[in-house]
Amino acid sequence: MSKLPLPSPDRESALAFVSDHLAHLVCDDVVGSPSYRGGQTSADAALAAFDVAGYARKRNEVHPAGRRGASGLSPYIRHGLLQLAEVWAVVADGPSKDVQKFRDELLWQEFARHWYAHHGTATQRGIRRELEPGPGSMSETDMDCLAMVRNELETDGWLVNQTRMWFSSHWAVRNGEPWRNGEDYFFQHLLDGSRAANRLGWQWTTGVGSSKSYGFSRWQVEKRAPGLCDSCALRTRCPIQDWPDDPAFVASSNAPAQPVLTGPSVVEAAGAVDHVWLTAESLGDADPALSANRELPVVFVFDEPLLASLRLSSKRLVFLTETLADLGTRRTVELRLGTPSTELDGLSVAVTWAPVPGFARRIGGINAGEVHPFPWLRQPNNKAVSSFSSWRRNAERNRPPQ
Ligand SMILES: Cc1cc2nc3c(=O)[nH]c(=O)nc-3n(C[C@H](O)[C@H](O)[C@H](O)COP(=O)(O)OP(=O)(O)OC[C@H]3O[C@@H](n4cnc5c(N)ncnc54)[C@H](O)[C@@H]3O)c2cc1C
Repeated sequence: MSKLPLPSPDRESALAFVSDHLAHLVCDDVVGSPSYRGGQTSADAALAAFDVAGYARKRNEVHPAGRRGASGLSPYIRHGLLQLAEVWAVVADGPSKDVQKFRDELLWQEFARHWYAHHGTATQRGIRRELEPGPGSMSETDMDCLAMVRNELETDGWLVNQTRMWFSSHWAVRNGEPWRNGEDYFFQHLLDGSRAANRLGWQWTTGVGSSKSYGFSRWQVEKRAPGLCDSCALRTRCPIQDWPDDPAFVASSNAPAQPVLTGPSVVEAAGAVDHVWLTAESLGDADPALSANRELPVVFVFDEPLLASLRLSSKRLVFLTETLADLGTRRTVELRLGTPSTELDGLSVAVTWAPVPGFARRIGGINAGEVHPFPWLRQPNNKAVSSFSSWRRNAERNRPPQ
């Protein structure tokens, strides 16, 4: 069993912690995102600073950064520091057009979670069709637009939606690089990287999971990042001057059905509990298991075999460490490194269900005295989850009060 010391809630301590204990699990030199700090305190401050006015008009803007209207809340939403229902409620007084557009995006996040909970690893196989391999060479090194995207991804660990679409389209639609490799590259660096939203985004952009692929050309750069092309070495011989050809698709074999992983709808109590086990899916103070057990110590396991296989950027582990250190100012937090079932052996934990295949695999080997429902924005039901529009029609029947 490997216990780790809890660092102080500041960047330097988080960097030292990751360097000392987790450096063998990351793909880069230990560094934190200059734009994002982990922790409930930072999440609350980011939400308080967000003004939804102008969101609909500006959410797709890219460059210069001052023109952007995206909230930048995704790393906090991804890790449950901000729950979708809370973010939904907070914007209620904004201009109706902006509120509606913003809430639509929150519903996309919820849809991604339902979709992944329903299809699990089957989502990896391409639900509708596959792309035929193309020329397979990314020619972005001299293009200012894509160099900017890569640099922001690898430095900040975050991208606006628009540049995620640019990059994934250039990668897979124009160049025919395998989309799964691109998805893995994003997942490695994004602070908000989730198999649910990232995989859905790649499948949607490339067209393997939607009716049409998204084309990326100079047109979007000039519209969303005016002036960026002016200093580009390739401005007079732009390789993306024209739209890419529609990619060729081949049928994909039907993936076998997966068990639906939406989890319990009421607390499942099997006995007394002595710890709250937090997972990376739900690290906020409002985590249901955490808030129901206010006196209990909290345990978090850095899952060593999983992290060794993922080799994420250190930015994500610094973000998680800051989050746990921040929680440690309010609660007793124990950090472990190893295999969750081994590290939690001998404990009886309260935990919040995480609607992802990895949680479903691990929970069987753990003594869980209480399993709390995942904090959904829309309660799952047993209807099929395929297209956003049909899911949404169905989900709107479960709207919370506004
Ligand atoms: C190829 C690709 C990969 C993506 N990978 C991820 C990922 O790994 N994790 C992730 O959370 N999102 C992902 N997205 C969705 C979206 O790009 C990000 O959620 C958004 O850019 C985050 O920035 P924001 O918080 O400023 O969003 P805002 O525009 O401010 O939106 C508010 C919130 O709504 C949700 N949201 C917005 N757009 C989407 C969307 N298209 N799909 C799902 N949720 C959305 C997010 O939770 C976001 O924080 C991906 C999109 C694409 C095209």
